[in-house]
Amino acid sequence: KLSERLNKICGLIPPGSRLADIGSDHALLPTFAVREGRVPSAIAGEVNRGPYDAASKQVAEAGLQSQIEVRLGDGLAAIEAGEADVITIAGMGGALIVRILTEGKAKLAGVQRLILQPNVGEDLVRRWLLREGWLLTEEHILEEDGKIYEVLTGDRSLSAVEDNARLYAPTTVGEPPVRLEADQLLDFGPFLVREASPVFHRKWRSEIAKLEGVAASMGRSDSEDARGKKESLERRIQRLKEVLACLP
Ligand code: SAM
Repeated sequence: KLSERLNKICGLIPPGSRLADIGSDHALLPTFAVREGRVPSAIAGEVNRGPYDAASKQVAEAGLQSQIEVRLGDGLAAIEAGEADVITIAGMGGALIVRILTEGKAKLAGVQRLILQPNVGEDLVRRWLLREGWLLTEEHILEEDGKIYEVLTGDRSLSAVEDNARLYAPTTVGEPPVRLEADQLLDFGPFLVREASPVFHRKWRSEIAKLEGVAASMGRSDSEDARGKKESLERRIQRLKEVLACLP
């Protein structure tokens, strides 16, 4: 049985697409997507030999070698431009996802949808999508085995620039209404903050607790630079709390 997280990602793949799953590990996602008939074929990319072998074994055991090709390569080096309609990159940090997309930019020609599931640094992924002219079309948040995951989709769209501008325009949410600027929408996720689900609240309560831990560990300092950093962190925590308190 596929995890709820991978199941959610699979459900966001437009049926019939040619899929490339980068950092596929055991190739669970492409195996499931092909077996379910969601996609006709897939490429599973892996940079490390261990997971690459595991993926090859998984695909062979499922008897899907004619539909799923397992390839060794760093990020998008595993594919050629035009080979995939959809790329999934899941289960790594946002900074790594951004590095893979940036270094592999030439391979994105022809790709219609990116489905990205950063474990941390989701804001970096949103900022990259915005910068590169991909329209953020969906955001999902879910909790599984005590961990909280965000799944983001970016689509090619001729009106991406205008639509993104609307998505990240300053807006008010909650009661009493609180004003959010683009920076905060990029941090929270413009769809997720409007939805303000219980999981979203749990995620941000735990983020705040982590940041409070960091602020406490900064202690007292004589250096102006360190004091400034601590004060800026405390302002950020305060602001996060204010926003969360207003959301439904
Ligand atoms: N995508 C699967 C999932 O979400 O369940 C596996 C996630 S696993 C935690 C991360 C995988 O990404 C590892 O198997 C690792 O080898 C692979 N990986 C890390 N950096 C990579 C890169 N630059 N290119 C391709 N794969 C990479």
